[in-house]
Amino acid sequence: MDGGVCDEVDIEFVSSTDSPGFGRFTWAVTHSSIIGLDAEWKPVRAHQPTFPDVLLLQIACRLDSSSLPVFLLDLSGTLPPSIYDLLTHLFLSPNVLKLGFRFKQDLLYLSSTFRSHGCHPGFHTVEPFLDIATIYSHLHHKQTRIKTKSLSFICQELLGLSLSKELQCSDWSQRPLTQDQMTYAALDALCLIHIFHVFQQRQGAIRNVTEVDSSGLDLGLKQILREPDNSTRILRTIYCEAVEMVRATIIEYPQRLHSEAEASVKKSSWDTKHMDYTLLQIVRQYGDKLTLTESDGKPRTSKKKGKRQSSTGFTCKEKRVDAIDEWQGPPPWDFLLGGDGCPKFLCDVMVEGLAKHLRCVGIDAAVPCSRKPETRELIDQAIKEKRVILTRDAKLLRHEYLLKNQIYRVKNLLKNDQLIEVIETFELKICEDQLMSRCTKCNGRFIQKPLSIEEAFEAAKGFQVIPNCLFDRNIEFWQCTDCNQLYWEGTQYHNAVQKFIDVCKITSTG
Ligand SMILES: [Zn+2]
Repeated sequence: MDGGVCDEVDIEFVSSTDSPGFGRFTWAVTHSSIIGLDAEWKPVRAHQPTFPDVLLLQIACRLDSSSLPVFLLDLSGTLPPSIYDLLTHLFLSPNVLKLGFRFKQDLLYLSSTFRSHGCHPGFHTVEPFLDIATIYSHLHHKQTRIKTKSLSFICQELLGLSLSKELQCSDWSQRPLTQDQMTYAALDALCLIHIFHVFQQRQGAIRNVTEVDSSGLDLGLKQILREPDNSTRILRTIYCEAVEMVRATIIEYPQRLHSEAEASVKKSSWDTKHMDYTLLQIVRQYGDKLTLTESDGKPRTSKKKGKRQSSTGFTCKEKRVDAIDEWQGPPPWDFLLGGDGCPKFLCDVMVEGLAKHLRCVGIDAAVPCSRKPETRELIDQAIKEKRVILTRDAKLLRHEYLLKNQIYRVKNLLKNDQLIEVIETFELKICEDQLMSRCTKCNGRFIQKPLSIEEAFEAAKGFQVIPNCLFDRNIEFWQCTDCNQLYWEGTQYHNAVQKFIDVCKITSTG
């Protein structure tokens, strides 16, 4: 067999921990930063009130060495309990990007299958996750997911590969599987990695093109694929027959790897590898989270359960927004997390008014560094400054998994209500001498000692007007150390203090 990828891909059927491939499997999944997931199950009849048993779980791994082994895990026998912990870890590991195609249904059935083997509570979350349908949409610059495109269609378009679907409804419970079945099953997982590779290259290509010459942005995908610069394996697969692309070539791993494989079964050595920077950037920008909700947990007899035909709706995103509505804590400033105990927030554009209110009660509430921040900048700022992002933007919540306990969706619409909501949610202690202790303009702190009226007039020269009527009165002036704005204890000040005493229901200590 000739042609790039064909030489390097191998399939390993793993049916028990005694299988020769088991060590390789654990080694490979703990040394990959990207895996492709797919599952095959026995079709069940409509009206049958159970989920079908998953008989085969395919995991394609992208290893550093550019080898792409595909593991076919036989779930019909004794394997599930012995790989449950590893799979759970894998599905949640921030260091492993999981790829799937409408994988939610697979996850649901997978979870039910593992539970039937006594593995509780099954699987309910996969993150970071990227759906190939989403990738396809991004490649076509669509904001919303393009519906009804099948994986075969996407493979044909992006890879020039035709995936045969005739084996889809074959008997996946028979053992041994035929060579064609194994190839078919492996390809479904493997093509996910290839499609992602195209996407990743395209991202890189766009970045390079923008830097050098923006006219190149018009390049079609096919054209970019065929660019001599991108002389990767992907290119060559265009001329590869799908079935030829994957053929079982059982490679004997060197002894060293075998012992490493043994070691990697131990939890302590899982996840030694972190994503490289370019991959992390893609995950931060596009990564998603797949979550099963309680309503997913019950089989619905009214719907057909045939593979793929039933995977019409893909609504996990909307459902997830509800799921993370409640604040879980602890916040990054918590002493338990090594914080200093001082609450710090980052208010996005939609809750700017809330930022001012929080400052009025002395809480550190920053706004984004730039006027129209990219999501990534916002996330970076929150992480760097250990802040909790306050937002009303549901889109931002897609990135919640990158911001563990660092994002909260404000539910109230009015500033006063929002302030109370935040105070109650984060159990903030507000006392009277904290009021007006922060610059409402820029979130800065005030100088240590108040200024006299003469000093204040001097300081205000050129950028702030102080009313002359203040001259006769004995009042204190405060200046922001960051933006130099001057504040004084006039009527407005006293009214504001009283307002926040009322809003926050502060009992005056006298
Ligand atoms: Zn200021």
